[in-house]
Amino acid sequence: MQEYKLFLNGEWSDSSTGETFEDINPATLETIGVFQKASLEDVLSAVDCAKDAFESWSTTPAPQRGKILFCAARMLEERKEKLARLMTIENGKILKEARGDVQEAIDMAYYAAGEGRRLLGETTPSELPDKFCMTLHRPMGVVGLITPFNFPMAIPAWKIMPALISGNTLVIKPSSDTPILAIELVKILSYAGVPRGVINLVTGEGGKVGAALVRNKDIRAISFTGSLDNGRWILSEAGKDMKRVSLEMGGKNPVIVMDDADLDLAVDGVLWGAFGTAGQRCTAASRVIVHEKKLAEFQRKLIERAKGLKIGSGLDESVDMGPLINAPQIDKVEKYVNIGKEEGARLALGGNRTKPLAGYFFEPTIFSDVTADMKIAQEEIFGPVLSLISTESLDGAIDIANSVAYGLSASIYTENIKNAFLAIEQIDTGITYVNAPTIGAEIHLPFGGVKATGNGTREAGTTAIDEFTDLKTVYFDYSGRLQKAQIDT
Ligand code: NAD
Repeated sequence: MQEYKLFLNGEWSDSSTGETFEDINPATLETIGVFQKASLEDVLSAVDCAKDAFESWSTTPAPQRGKILFCAARMLEERKEKLARLMTIENGKILKEARGDVQEAIDMAYYAAGEGRRLLGETTPSELPDKFCMTLHRPMGVVGLITPFNFPMAIPAWKIMPALISGNTLVIKPSSDTPILAIELVKILSYAGVPRGVINLVTGEGGKVGAALVRNKDIRAISFTGSLDNGRWILSEAGKDMKRVSLEMGGKNPVIVMDDADLDLAVDGVLWGAFGTAGQRCTAASRVIVHEKKLAEFQRKLIERAKGLKIGSGLDESVDMGPLINAPQIDKVEKYVNIGKEEGARLALGGNRTKPLAGYFFEPTIFSDVTADMKIAQEEIFGPVLSLISTESLDGAIDIANSVAYGLSASIYTENIKNAFLAIEQIDTGITYVNAPTIGAEIHLPFGGVKATGNGTREAGTTAIDEFTDLKTVYFDYSGRLQKAQIDT
């Protein structure tokens, strides 16, 4: 059994208490690795190492930092297939998706590396003569990164790469269900030349190890991706020290299918959006709001196609859907299926654990006759469960789309430009797709949500740098005399 360590000051170390935990393959329930339960002392030591490394790293010219990230990107590319297989074993997602997850990390590494020669500020005229105005991005210090299980390499990379190129040092705590890929990423960054202490990794329970990062006074910013309850606690706790907090949380993402939509295209998109990664994506489609004129036909086509999805080990290239991540997650999905039945929705497909597979497999599940106020149409399930809701108009569909607490991603299928633009304008989400599924973000565009999905920050794109830098405004007066803004003008 492979044993994985903490990464402190460039060294792989045991936890100070010697305590460990195990990680299992959700498709077979076999144990695949042993990890360190970091103690509070280990977390303190990780933060201290990052603090000590800050001066040297933050004063290294950004293009030099970029060179290291370019090197890491190339190393990730060379190891893509091996990392993807490891991810399928640890997380369960099918190989095709695991390759995509690693590719996102590669893309982010290249993108952030290029930022080393940009990190653009603004220059703008002054209202006074002989005066120059500009803004500069400055590194913040030590940042704490806390990541979920569902994108084991992409999400750590989305946070680590921009944090590093901006000149910060960091401590990362990955999900206890999928720590291996974050560990592999840190290994690669270290081989690529990130100096000791700049990047540190601790593993262990969220409520203990993650919380210790949130409470640490030397950490300037926390970047968290995970569930709403944990994000809400982190925001209030970190707020006590005026830390910057970036939160990326849940979704209840709708797809609107209008009566003028290309139905086959919509079925393709909904299948991929709802059942890709077994529904365990923050952007997964969990509600389809279909125009009543097309509902029967859409439902028939969707069920026909969903019946054909092959469930099994993601290592088998012919499989479409792997397992859920762990026992609590499959219990949660089962609980929501029962709630849906009790609420009066009609179970049109699935609804059961898949036997005789040993792991946490659940059938693609579709409820019809769902109303917008039902719990299954309001709460994040994070599994392969889809609700079909009828609408008689675009206005009605948009009202339903907006009737949930979350606001991450949405999509509309329509051949009518006016419908598309009204949806773009009126749906309350951070991301909206037209004639495409709710999933499929590209790393050079901002990513994030509104309402309960987040607190307004955006990852990726040029906004990735904003998440990890302080902006300094500079006024440079070369007139040689006292000039007074607003008074001398
Ligand atoms: P989770 O909230 O259970 O865990 C996320 C991370 O937080 C883990 O590393 C965990 O150990 C840590 N954690 C738990 N309690 C903590 C605490 N008190 N203090 C500090 N850290 C703590 O989430 P999960 O089950 O791993 O992931 C699924 C959730 O993540 C879903 O709600 C999903 O929608 C969301 N998600 C959102 C996005 C996005 O970008 N919006 C992307 C992926 C996943």
